[in-house]
Parts: sequence; C-alpha cells; structure tokens
Amino acid sequence: MGKIVIISGPSGAGKTTVCTQLLKYSGVRKSISVTTRPPRHNEKNGVSYHFVSIPEFEEMLRRGELAEHARYCGHYYGTLASTLKESLASDMLLILEIEVQGALQIMEKFPETTSIFLLPPNSDTLGQRLLNRNTNKEQDIELRLETAEKELSYKDRYQYSVVNDDLEITVDTVRKILGLV
Ligand code: ADP
Ligand code: 5GP
Repeated sequence: MGKIVIISGPSGAGKTTVCTQLLKYSGVRKSISVTTRPPRHNEKNGVSYHFVSIPEFEEMLRRGELAEHARYCGHYYGTLASTLKESLASDMLLILEIEVQGALQIMEKFPETTSIFLLPPNSDTLGQRLLNRNTNKEQDIELRLETAEKELSYKDRYQYSVVNDDLEITVDTVRKILGLV
C-alpha cells in the first residue's frame, strides 16, 4: 500500500525546492497536478503541471477525474484521481504539493495521509524569495503574499510544521518525518 504525503505552505516557502530534493530518495514520486495557470518560462507541460484550459479543467471536474481541487490566486488546480489510485496500489510514497483547501479535502478522504506545512523563517523572506525566483509579476506576488496570511492560519490542521530556513536542515527534517533513508 502506497503512502500519501501533503506538503503545503505559502508561495515562496520553498515547497518545490524541498520536494525536488525528496525525489532523490528511492520510492518517492510527486503528483503532477492539473492547472489552468499559464506555464512559467521554466515549466514544461506534463512535467511541472498538466496545463489545461478552463473548459478542459471543468470537464475533468464534471467527469470526476480530480481527487481534490481548489481555486488559488485566480486559477484552478487539481490532483488527478488516477495518480492517487495508481500510487496507493503501489508501495510508492506520493508527494502532493498542494494548497490548503485541497489538502483538507485529501485529509478527509485519506485520513492516513501525512501532512507537512512548510513555513518561511519570517514574512519578509517570502516576498524576497518570490522576487528572487523571478517567475511572477509584481501584482501576482502581491496577491500571493496576501493569500499567505490566510494560508498560515491553517498551519495547525497539519501534523507537522517545518520552518524552511537552511535548506539542507529542512530537507533532512522532512526526510526523517517520512522515514526516508
Ligand atoms: P514554493 O514552491 O513554496 O512557492 P520555491 O521552492 O519555488 O517555493 O522557492 C521560492 C524561492 O526560494 C526559489 O527561488 C528557491 O530557490 C528559494 N528557496 C527555497 N528554499 C530556500 C532556502 N531554504 N533558503 C533560501 N532560498 C530558498
Ligand atoms: P504555483 O502557481 O505557485 O505553482 O502553485 C500555487 C499553489 O497551488 C501552491 O500552493 C501549490 O502547492 C498549489 N497547488 C499545486 N497543485 C495543486 C493541486 O493539484 N491542488 C491544489 N489544491 N493545490 C495545488
């Protein structure tokens, strides 16, 4: 039986960076979500996300193909039910890097899920990291920082909170939580 682990946290907390490090361990894979957000310059369809149109997303929803979904900063995001099913039937550890509304849906459907909330060392760091990442327009960064405030209030719904200050320490902490060797 496979395991599911949710990693949430405000934009810029370092979720993608940490998940990329975790994928180096054997038996770990990451769910590729479906989104209506346009791809960033460094993102490839089918690798970072499955990028779809709004009608395509709505059709997937209607057909019951998504295990959870949410609207975040003006775009839809969702997890393919088929990915979860395949992963649970294997003995893989599947990472869902998803926001809080979707995370709550998964926690309810799959109570065995391990949940981790990644935090920045402080709120200034978030803005700085998003600027450094250089993938979002100023207006989008502002919206993400506003959303971060609301997301932080969901921290206690997660089993673990990890502050991502030093990346190496963070990855090691999460690795230990997940029992990866
Ligand atoms: P998220 O997926 O949570 O939005 P990212 O993984 O894209 O965040 O990280 C946002 C930016 O912060 C990236 O440029 C990344 O390289 C950087 N970053 C991630 N973790 C750290 C860290 N521990 N210290 C400094 N910079 C970091
Ligand atoms: P980004 O646009 O920065 O890639 O992602 C924005 C937010 O959407 C992040 O918090 C990310 O974790 C979340 N997200 C990505 N995929 C999914 C998904 O399939 N479902 C939900 N609910 N959130 C997702």
